[in-house]
Order: sequence, then structure tokens, then C-alpha cells
Amino acid sequence: SLFSDLRPLGPEGPFSLETQFIADSDSCKVNLIIGAYRNNQGQAWQPPSLVEAKKRIHVESCLHEYLPLHGSAEFLESSKLLVLGPEITNQAYDRIASIQTISGTGANSLIAKFLDNHTHPANIWLPDPTWVNHADIWKENAPGVDLRWYPYYDESSRSLSFSAMIQTLQRDTQENDAILLHACAHNPTGLDPTKEQWEEIALVCKEKKLFVIFDSAYQGFASGDLDHDAWAIRHFFTHPGLEFAICQSFSKNMSLYGERLGALHIVVSRKSSSPPTASVHGHLAEIQRACVSMAPLFGSRVANEIFKSEDLHLMWQADLLLMSNRIKTMRKAVYDELVRLQTPGNWDHVVHQTGMFSYTGLTEEQVGRLRKEHHVYMLPSGRASICGLTCANFKYTAQAIHSVIT
Ligand code: PLP
Repeated sequence: SLFSDLRPLGPEGPFSLETQFIADSDSCKVNLIIGAYRNNQGQAWQPPSLVEAKKRIHVESCLHEYLPLHGSAEFLESSKLLVLGPEITNQAYDRIASIQTISGTGANSLIAKFLDNHTHPANIWLPDPTWVNHADIWKENAPGVDLRWYPYYDESSRSLSFSAMIQTLQRDTQENDAILLHACAHNPTGLDPTKEQWEEIALVCKEKKLFVIFDSAYQGFASGDLDHDAWAIRHFFTHPGLEFAICQSFSKNMSLYGERLGALHIVVSRKSSSPPTASVHGHLAEIQRACVSMAPLFGSRVANEIFKSEDLHLMWQADLLLMSNRIKTMRKAVYDELVRLQTPGNWDHVVHQTGMFSYTGLTEEQVGRLRKEHHVYMLPSGRASICGLTCANFKYTAQAIHSVIT
């Protein structure tokens, strides 16, 4: 066969663990692997805003035509407003090129291909660590761009490695390099820069003439407040001349995981009276056409219902608050239990981190023992999806952590 020399590949990290979890017959098993919201019964959950939006769509009579190449114009307008806010959207009305994508992954892939084809950065700078897929996305889609890493996590203090990050960006980046920043709820560390730190990052990006890519996969899901979670992106807009892209996902904040709803927005600079927005737009569409033609329709239909009705929008905001509060409550519950058990070490980071994940600080060996001896599953890096904790299993989980540490 043509394929006999292919190296066999099993399912990738989290997906292989998920298979092991499903096969595990222990009744106490706990799934802290996958980044998807679960309710307090440990079940996948449909937020009320989503249920109501689907009712209003009248699915039986819907046609299933192709979307235009750029996606749903109504959805793109609303998603742009959501991330940039009305003031910036008005100010930059002719400077934003937007296209609907196959969720956040599609937006990341499209910007990688677009930059590799058209602006030719020497390097893409990723945070170390980052979402496991970022490096693969760039390798697959931008073979002409070298992968580089900037420090992000200080293991000894379990905090943001801010000075080292700034030093590396100042010392090692070249003009026109691309840099990826997580807009909020950094995956996997749960550590975000403060506002003052974001201001410093923006200054370095501007001074070094870097092209910034914001990966925004958790707007509203991190803090429960849509505007709060978009603060960093909006701040970068205040620096004239800084051009940047936003990879927007609606997987987590609208619970539309499998519908693959996302957008890529590129904010271009105005050097002359007519910014090159239309050219950017056209080239994005050209690449999208060759790769996937156009994005799927159903998710944008649901989102449009939520965006256009005030009552549904309010309902959605309440859903976001409920989800983010449940995660915060679970962080505190497992933290209190670890403190009560007098588990060695400092566990403050579990409550201070934000978003879906906790970077627990557990070693790969401890994570392996958690799985084998206690049926508690998390990534080998020690990343735990807090969504997998419930009132029924947080004590068991804390006890399991306690026993692999002591
Ligand atoms: N970016 C980050 C940082 C993520 O954590 C994820 C999902 O976990 C994504 C992008 C993309 O997710 P999706 O393709 O489902 O939108």
C-alpha cells in the first residue's frame, strides 16, 4: 500500500484519555479532561437561552441553503460588536475585515494561512504553555513561519512569568513577527495579565511592530461579564497603528461546541484615506473557499436569534454568569477541602486562576497515580477542567489529590 510507511498514530492526548475514561467501569470516576461545560450533575447542559433560541427558529421550516462565502452578514455584525463594543465598531467601521469560520480552530487556522501567504512573518510567538492545538495549527497551515515560544508560566510561584515574557519579546522578536495572546482565561494556566500588564504588552507589540493575534475562546465564560473579558482586545485598539486579529469562538460561551461557530476579525490600520480592508476581506474569502468553502449555517442561526432579541440576550448573560459562578464555586470547594485535609503545599492558585481550567501543579507521575489508583482523569500537564467537579465528587477528588501528594 501507498500508506505502509505511515507511522501509526493513536488518538491525540485528551481524546485518548477520554476513551480510557469511558472504558473505566469504576463508579467513582471523575472526568477533568475535556474543556466543555458540565452541570452540577456532571452532565452536558443546554443553557435556557439556547433552548429558547432554537424554539424561535422553527427548525421544521428552515431551508438549508449555503451561506455566502463570508458567512452570515448578520452574525458577523453582531459578533464584531460583541468583541469590540459599539464605540470601536463605529470608529473603525471601514477597518475591520470579518469572516465566519469553523469555530475558534478554523479562525486560528485561517489567520495562520493568511499571514503565511501574504505578510510572511518570520516567526509566530506562542505562550509557553498554550492550548495544545496552537503549535499543530501553525505547523499545518503556515509551513513558512517558525514556531517560537515566549515564557508565560513560572512554575515555582505558579504565577504569570511576566518579566521574562516582556524581556523575551523585547529581545528576540523581529519586525512583522506574529504573536498569539489569549484574550482571557488562558488555557491551560488560567492566568491572565492584569490591566497594567496588558498595557505594557501592547506597548512592546507596538514598539517591536508585531502583528497580534488574540485568541478569544472564552468571552463572558471566564468572568461572567462579556465586556470585562474583552478588555484587553479593546485596549489594543487604543494604540493607533497596531494591527491585530481576533479569533472568536462560540463553543463555550454559547454552548455550541459541535456546531462550530466562530469568526475571524482583522483590524487594519488607516495609513491613507482608504484602508486595505476590502483586499484583506477578499484574500480571506479566497483561502476559506479553497479549504472549506463556507462555514456551517445552523450555529449562526441560533446566535442571530440570541443577538437580535433583547430578552434572549439578557437570558444568555444570566447563563454565562451561572456557568462561570458554578466554576468559581467548585474551585473554592476543592480548595477548602484541600486546606481542611492539610494537603501539603499551597493551593491558593486553584482559586486565583480564572476560566475553565486549573493548572494544578501536580506532576505527571501524580496525575498518573490519580488516574490509576483513584479514577480521577486530567491531562498529564496537571491541567484539570474544573467543569468536571460537582457537589457530589469534589471531596472525593480532593482526597485523591491528597493521597497522591502525601
Ligand atoms: N482557543 C483556545 C485557547 C481554546 O481553549 C479552544 C478550545 O478549547 C479553542 C481555541 C478552539 O475551540 P473551538 O474550535 O471549539 O472553537
